Amino acid sequence: MIDVNITLKMISNIEAIPAFSDNYIWILINGNSAAVVDPGDASAVDNFLNENNLNLESILITHHHFDHTGGIIDLASKWNPKVFGPKGGHINGIDLELSENAKIEILDTEFCIFETPGHTLDHIAYYSEDIDSLFCGDTLFSGGCGRLFEGTPLQMFNSLKKFSDLPEETRVYCTHEYTLSNLTFALEVEPNNDDLKKYFEEVSTLRDSNKMSLPSSISLENKINPFLRTSIEEVKANAENYANKKDLQPVEVLATIRDWKDNF
Ligand SMILES: [Zn+2]
Repeated sequence: MIDVNITLKMISNIEAIPAFSDNYIWILINGNSAAVVDPGDASAVDNFLNENNLNLESILITHHHFDHTGGIIDLASKWNPKVFGPKGGHINGIDLELSENAKIEILDTEFCIFETPGHTLDHIAYYSEDIDSLFCGDTLFSGGCGRLFEGTPLQMFNSLKKFSDLPEETRVYCTHEYTLSNLTFALEVEPNNDDLKKYFEEVSTLRDSNKMSLPSSISLENKINPFLRTSIEEVKANAENYANKKDLQPVEVLATIRDWKDNF
């Protein structure tokens, strides 16, 4: 007889470990095994692992900023996990460097790698169709995107396009609790967006009781995030108004509203 009761063991739980003032270190759990994304703070991760009787098997790094990488060496010496990260040899402690479309298996769950330059040039993101989840580091935030410290507006535009084309149900695990301030700005860019107004109220209520606003979803971000909506007439018109220019193309709209947000 053929056994049809094949159990697919995959990541079954994803939790946030708060770190610094507004970072989230996402911890992925399958049984007693765990992986963390961007552990800037080793002690916060250590405490969570010990309290929950978990073993750290993998570390996933999205980019070189210290609030995402600061815990790698300590955690590696204590737990001996496999450490994945961007190519380039510039981040200490990476065991396996990843490029566009690389496939890796983490806790019996497949992830695909996207190169997403813009915030930094080395930035990568981890997407798993198995668990409908995207770990986007500092490229995409709920209602916003990362600052362009190293990349160009075109690079950020192309990186965000990879995300907005993902299945709508994909959960989006960003690494900072920036949602409310992003939405305050988004309402300046798109004051007549009803989905945005509604989401602003929801997030305001959550943050009033100190609850996190994440994860988001691709469906929601496509409806409310001005950096994914650069072709929408109201976003374009208000960007043109801010820049005092006409006929901006979508990449120029992104560059304009990024500049506007930086000075907001
Ligand atoms: Zn960063």
